Amino acid sequence: MDPEIIEEVVKTFGRLHEDGLIYRAEKLVNYCTRCGTAYSELEVEHEEREDKLYTIDYGLLKVATTRPETMLGDTAVAVNPKDKRYKNLIGKSVVVPLINREIPIVGDEMVDMEFGTGAVKITPAHDPNDWEVGVKHKLEVITVIGTNGKMTDKAGEYAGLSVSAAREKVIDDLGNKLVEVKPYVHSVGVCYRCHRVIEPLPIKQFFIKVKPLADKALAALNSKETVILGAGRDKILRHWLLNLRDWNISRQIVWGIRIPVWYTDEKKLDYVVSETSPGEGYIQETDTFDTWFSSGQWPVVTLKTNKPEDFEAYYPTNIMETAYDILPFWVMRMMLLSIYLTGKSPFKYVYLHGLVRDEQGRKMSKSIGNAINPLELCTKYGTDSLRMALVMSTTAGQDSNTGENKVRGMRNFGNKIWNAGRFIAEKQAEDMVMTGEKDGEFTKKLSEVTNEVTKLLDQMKVGLASETVYNEFWHWFCDEGIEMNKQKKVSDAMLKEGYKKMLALLHPFVPFVTEAIWQEMFVDEGLLISYSWPK
Ligand SMILES: [Zn+2]
Repeated sequence: MDPEIIEEVVKTFGRLHEDGLIYRAEKLVNYCTRCGTAYSELEVEHEEREDKLYTIDYGLLKVATTRPETMLGDTAVAVNPKDKRYKNLIGKSVVVPLINREIPIVGDEMVDMEFGTGAVKITPAHDPNDWEVGVKHKLEVITVIGTNGKMTDKAGEYAGLSVSAAREKVIDDLGNKLVEVKPYVHSVGVCYRCHRVIEPLPIKQFFIKVKPLADKALAALNSKETVILGAGRDKILRHWLLNLRDWNISRQIVWGIRIPVWYTDEKKLDYVVSETSPGEGYIQETDTFDTWFSSGQWPVVTLKTNKPEDFEAYYPTNIMETAYDILPFWVMRMMLLSIYLTGKSPFKYVYLHGLVRDEQGRKMSKSIGNAINPLELCTKYGTDSLRMALVMSTTAGQDSNTGENKVRGMRNFGNKIWNAGRFIAEKQAEDMVMTGEKDGEFTKKLSEVTNEVTKLLDQMKVGLASETVYNEFWHWFCDEGIEMNKQKKVSDAMLKEGYKKMLALLHPFVPFVTEAIWQEMFVDEGLLISYSWPK
């Protein structure tokens, strides 16, 4: 990465820190023990898995869990205060089997009375819901699983075992305290890179307080400073912004921008934020920034580090075009950080395109073998054919179905444009002075088509604009216009003028073919790409 970009990104962290928007806290993070890094909630995928639900006898009550090995880190049992079965047990205590630790029974509305026995063990160090309960009831946090995926010293005789080996041993050791085991299908968080089950672990990380940033991004959406075009997907963005948790920006990976934080002691108790070493004896944090922390500053840092005054001239930008699946990862982060840095939302419009699916609407995948190679299609049918096939009839934010048939259809359309051009190019110069009885009608229709396509493009209805120009060229200009010309009702001069306009209207969608024809027929006019848009 360019050093000047890194400099800007590091500065942003410093500024956030000065504004009190950065804090370091032990927080439960989504940790992949194989990749050795923590992930934000956005990077965790969810999969249905069949596991087992174990019911364990804790004396006064029984608890149900899918993860018996975490009982070694239990610091409470929770019941719902509305639950008549357990209400009078709140405030009493039980002893955790195997480790004989006495823990309190707490009442919390979060407990689902229908799940298992209606009583749940609380392990703040290893479950996000339990963490919340732990914070509320000021429970101790006992970490029994380490970042290496093995049981820690706190796990007593289970120390050093892998999580799955510890689970087996705990189940064995429980003996008759294990009262029931049954199959259980549930959704588990897995690493988006290696698909290992995510281990929630308490680790010291740097966080951004997102609420003040999110409020401003919401305000930008409400005031229409930024408009999201994408079939209602702005609602998804609002939902994210309203429910965003503080952003964990620490990553335990080496490829990335190193966090500009320095420590003087091995235990990393206190830290100093500084772009360079604050002095002798300081060691820098080895964690790097979440990649979205730097790419979230893209609109600002790219313009600031390019040519002088680019930022002043081009910020805020007009349109950001991207796929909808990256909306919370990237677009939202660009809004959060760019507004923070500049006071202005980075784009006037965000145009979200959909995913390209196969002709039957299925996602393209290796296993189905239905993926199409765009380069092969370009070689076979021409680049314009693929371009038109990808744009035609699409709607912002919605997936489109595209296959070879659609591309072939667009190749035929390209041929239609060539053939019409050839027909007109063969006209004799002396015939160009004659007029036709339908010339007026033809001109009127031509300006209607121009207005319609222009209007649709102004509204950023790109798919509809391409569909309109396709239909009007094929069914009006060729089927009717050229036919009327053959009957001498539309003059040669008028037809040629109409063709010229149609080429200009087609140009955004079929750029190579139209430019090539233009260079043959209207060479005196310069390049079509720089020719002014028809009125
Ligand atoms: Zn992983």
